Amino acid sequence: MDSITCKFGGTSLADASCFRAVAAIVRAKAERRFIVPSAPGKRSPDDKKITDLLYLWHGMSQQGLDPSQPRGMIAERFMQLAQELNQPFDIERLLEEIAAGGLSHPEPDFMASRGEYLSGRLMAGLLGAAFVDPADYIKFDEEGVLDPRTYVLLGEALKGPGLFVIPGFYGATPDGRIKTFSRGGSDVTGAIVARASNSVLYENWTDVSGFLMADPRIVPDAKHIDEVTYRELRELSYMGANVLHDEAIFPVRASRIPINIRNTKEPEAPGTMIVAEREATHPVCGIAGRKGFTMINIEKTLMNRERGFGRRVLSVLEAHGVSFEHMPTGIDTISLIIKDEELANHGHAVLKEIERVCEPDRVTLTPGLAIIATVGQGMAGHVGVAARLCVALADAKVNLRVIDQGSSENNIIIGVEENDLDTAVRAIYNAFKP
Ligand code: ASP
Repeated sequence: MDSITCKFGGTSLADASCFRAVAAIVRAKAERRFIVPSAPGKRSPDDKKITDLLYLWHGMSQQGLDPSQPRGMIAERFMQLAQELNQPFDIERLLEEIAAGGLSHPEPDFMASRGEYLSGRLMAGLLGAAFVDPADYIKFDEEGVLDPRTYVLLGEALKGPGLFVIPGFYGATPDGRIKTFSRGGSDVTGAIVARASNSVLYENWTDVSGFLMADPRIVPDAKHIDEVTYRELRELSYMGANVLHDEAIFPVRASRIPINIRNTKEPEAPGTMIVAEREATHPVCGIAGRKGFTMINIEKTLMNRERGFGRRVLSVLEAHGVSFEHMPTGIDTISLIIKDEELANHGHAVLKEIERVCEPDRVTLTPGLAIIATVGQGMAGHVGVAARLCVALADAKVNLRVIDQGSSENNIIIGVEENDLDTAVRAIYNAFKP
């Protein structure tokens, strides 16, 4: 039988009725055999996520503060869940273990992972499934990179009939310490499980019925995306369409396992399929943008003739540990677009160093930039896409600060003032909506 891996996000597991709804979804299809839960999320907008409370608990313990408030809230949530789901759970003993782990680990990973661990234990009990602890099978190397042996180890552990529950978000380092992925990382675990188990499909169950062509807070009537390629999605999610963790596609892409984004509250809706290839009938499939970028502009007469100029500029960034996002160039200019959090407090030092190492005529910093990606594999070979985009922006009176199109021709990146972000996204959407 072909198997399906299902990952359920925190909002799909917020309380006992959510857990039951998830169990019903799992039981509705015999192929749904590998279940990856997140930690319980918010029950209402002003509620707390379990993972956030765990990070708080760890931070307070490390600073010698009394963590009884977050600890009490976590205890209450899990006690209630266990009771309502009829699962025998010695929550006090489990919390003691977590508290001890929190004190002995200066890094928060062990504690942060316990939300998924407990959620997984509850889910395994509820479904009568085998519980597989990722600490034993999902392995990172010394650099914190996923060890490819994971697929073999986990693949072995997931052999055999029946259902398996594998908590999301964490694995272990070579010396056996727990290590988490970055926030939202249960999506990555789901992808790893799908590949290790040879699943034919990775269903990612969340609180929206897939992707929309643009952020609905900016474009309220944005159209639904039925199908998108891994590559298109990578560009969109990297730029802020954050339904799925932007590293989640790598494990499944290698095995061409499609991802289906589904909504736990609307289980009948088909959601969005993320596939290796698709027939593009339309040039643009989505538009995503983000604020919080700074541009470094470097000018030097006859830069084009100076060998090694670009290398020297980039070596300054490297020396300061700063990575850049885009590098549009002119004949005598190079611009570097950098995320504000990357540049942090290095801006001034980086400028000074560029002045010293590259001796430019001028180097300036332009903060307050928003970057927008207009994505679609149907753009390749399609004449006039950039022209349409520029006309739409001009008509909306948006000043285009920078424009960059990679050779893959499935993405046009533009930079605008942060205040123009919403107007620009709406203008581009209206120009390209199907
Ligand atoms: N619980 C973790 C977080 O809040 C991981 C996840 O939900 O994917 O980031």
